[in-house]
Amino acid sequence: MTPTDLPIYELESALLASLEEQGRVVVSAPTGSGKSTQIPRMLLRHGLLNTGEVIVLQPRRLAARMLAQRVAQEEGSALGEIVGYQIRLESRVSARTKIRYVTEGILLRKMSFDPTLKGVSVLVFDEFHERHLHGDITLARAKQIQATIRPDLKIVVMSATLSADTLVKYLEPCSHIESVGRSYPVDISYLTRSPNFDREGVWDVATQGAVDLATKTDGDLLVFMPGAYEIGRTVSALESHRALKGFEVFPLHGELAPERQDAAVRPGTGRKIIVSTNVAETSLTIAGVTGVIDAGLARMARFDSRRGINTLLIDKISRASADQRAGRAGRTQAGQCLRLWSERDHADRPAYEKPEVHRVDLAESVLTLKASGIDRIDTFPWFEAPEPAARERAEQLLADLGATESHGDRSITEMGKRMLKFPAHPRYARMLLEADQRGCAKVVALMAALTQGRNFLLRDVSGAIDRARDERWGNEESSDFFRLMRAWEYAHENRYSVEACRALGVHAQGARQVGPLFAQLLKITEKEGLSLAEAVPDSEICKCILAGFSDQLARRLDRGTMRCELVHNRRGVLARESSVQEAGLLVAAEISEIEGRGGELNVLLSMATAVEESWLAELFPDDLRETNTVIYDEDTRRVIVRRERRFRDLVLESKATAGVPPEDAAARLLAIRVQSGEIKLKTWTEAVDRWITRVNCLARFFPELEVSPLTPEDRLMLVEQICLGSFGARELKDKPVMPVLKDWLRAEQLAVIDDYLPERVELPNGRRARITYGEQGSPILSARVQDVIGLTNAFTLGIGRLAVRWELLAPNQRPVQLTDDLDGFWSGAYRDVRAQLAGRYPKHNWPPVASD
Ligand code: ADP
Ligand code: MG
Repeated sequence: MTPTDLPIYELESALLASLEEQGRVVVSAPTGSGKSTQIPRMLLRHGLLNTGEVIVLQPRRLAARMLAQRVAQEEGSALGEIVGYQIRLESRVSARTKIRYVTEGILLRKMSFDPTLKGVSVLVFDEFHERHLHGDITLARAKQIQATIRPDLKIVVMSATLSADTLVKYLEPCSHIESVGRSYPVDISYLTRSPNFDREGVWDVATQGAVDLATKTDGDLLVFMPGAYEIGRTVSALESHRALKGFEVFPLHGELAPERQDAAVRPGTGRKIIVSTNVAETSLTIAGVTGVIDAGLARMARFDSRRGINTLLIDKISRASADQRAGRAGRTQAGQCLRLWSERDHADRPAYEKPEVHRVDLAESVLTLKASGIDRIDTFPWFEAPEPAARERAEQLLADLGATESHGDRSITEMGKRMLKFPAHPRYARMLLEADQRGCAKVVALMAALTQGRNFLLRDVSGAIDRARDERWGNEESSDFFRLMRAWEYAHENRYSVEACRALGVHAQGARQVGPLFAQLLKITEKEGLSLAEAVPDSEICKCILAGFSDQLARRLDRGTMRCELVHNRRGVLARESSVQEAGLLVAAEISEIEGRGGELNVLLSMATAVEESWLAELFPDDLRETNTVIYDEDTRRVIVRRERRFRDLVLESKATAGVPPEDAAARLLAIRVQSGEIKLKTWTEAVDRWITRVNCLARFFPELEVSPLTPEDRLMLVEQICLGSFGARELKDKPVMPVLKDWLRAEQLAVIDDYLPERVELPNGRRARITYGEQGSPILSARVQDVIGLTNAFTLGIGRLAVRWELLAPNQRPVQLTDDLDGFWSGAYRDVRAQLAGRYPKHNWPPVASD
């Protein structure tokens, strides 16, 4: 059976020709054209697979399975024979499989375990426009592999949007084939006002919308909801609405049993409503839909900085996504789309989704790349490179977890390779491996499950609830995880009853979601043969938490406050509600930044677990160091040796010793304090500063003497020399300064300084005048007007080479004039100065003005 009337068949010959010529091709065609189902079949039919297979990378598990099933049926073979699929924890393939649909890390892992991609003839990247991280990374790897060891490998990149210029350029030489497809107009309407879904169930608003559309169009309806929970609620609301009695309602999402998923897609007898996640946006096409009701929401993977892992959060979809969804109504005839938000709100939505590479934590992908020998992530040929900070965060975390070496190129370790066996965030992979050693993988799998979804143990509860919790769950002082476990067990035992949960501040729905995840993680741990013993001491469990969060180890700074110092030079405050109040050392599984009242950023540590120092030595022996550090002790004002014990860069303990510090290190530390003025040298007088200025003037005015000017760094060096041999501020006080400073000049330079740059000169009338030197400008000669009578611009200093600037003083030593031109003074300003001064000091001798 071949649906050769699908639009994609118009591109068949161009596709085959491009693959023969360049081995790379980008195919753009709208959803429903037949890309995902037909292109792999064309490759098979025309012999492009030779003896190998085609791997089709899909972003969604549900789509991978359904596509495989559909294509198997079209090929007339059982699923898992010629056509199969492989997704995390589930696969239907055989030795005869020629078309294999895969998801997520499966292809990337394959590339790292066998970079030659033996047995793979063609790689197809489907839904590339969605820009999932795995698509980006595997395409880059495929390009590398094709350019080096596998020139015969063929690459097909498929996209449901037509703009592919950057992609084609990235893959050059590469051809681009496109089809505009066939579609009918869709009439889009909005609500007059965007509802608040916190107050009004999105399922109720959608049901009202379905009632509306049911009369406006005569085909099937497709409702987009963000996740399984909302889909469940919507299905119930639709089924119980009287106006929709004639419809059969189907949910469609990844957590349903395959039969129920199939039922949603299968053509029915009457009219139907399908309530789906965004899998029906571009991945799957459901025939017969003419009306779309769009809640405008989707669960999107995003890095949650608080928990330090990726999570799925519900967010508003972009305008581009909304248009794709609307398009689902116009496949076979003109259709209707109702958006459950206002037109105004629509304009405020982003045009496109941010690619995952800018949104999610890269740790797991980086580790997989390292497993394939790619150590330098910064020079990796990304389609779009991640932000350097995000890349560095991932690399640092992997090093901290022991998954990579902490030095050099940070290549993968044995531990890192083992961690990759777990399709979980590296933090939890590391915790599970640690748990295996300690026989507590089951508990750790539960812990992992408890922290992935939304927080179900409410914070800021009333005093009554707080007391009820203490009563029922006791006061766990070693880890906040234990309370979370007790809370989940409680909810589980009470069958997630809303009343029972409310009494202890537990969010029943959130707790319920832990179950399936726990089961899934248990399945992996069992598959990997981890040890699952039930009864282990709490301390063993806490060690596993430490293993996964060692990069968030914190030390309490004091007993009185909650302030802590963390690894990597961070500081934070332990949350008051944490039950770990006594421990000096702890790890925080959650770190959040909260803006304080004054706008300052406070780092709040929560989900704490008490840690004993001996565990650090047990788990991370290479990260503990004891060093002697020479420091200046502010209290005793002496340089001392402290013995410090550190975990990575975090100081665990610091103790003063009786050891004598090295002289030069002590001198340097003291010099810094002298420079800053913290330590005063009695002998460092103003005269010393003046001498330094004169040295610099000597260098400036008499270059032939080859004096080096004293820079601030030279100064520090000289101070260091003065401090040499001292260990405390007190010893320094009376240390002579000038001998060291004088050493700066060579003997012949020292011999002339007083001659060339005197500090005082004798004037013709026998009085002495002061000379001031500065870092700039001429020396300044300060003298009373009467004392310089008879002098002219012919007066110089410095063996006749330096003109001076005159600071002329009144008899009371107050300056009355500052000038470079003494001749000009006599013939000009002197007239007024004389008149003024003669009036005030009549007894002094004021020679007449030249022209009088
Ligand atoms: P594209 O990848 O271009 O969006 P597909 O190859 O997924 O297109 O689908 C092509 C056509 O095949 C669709 O229009 C749809 O009618 C049909 N189809 C695909 N999968 C199924 C299925 N599981 N059940 C019924 N019809 C299907
Ligand atoms: Mg497709």
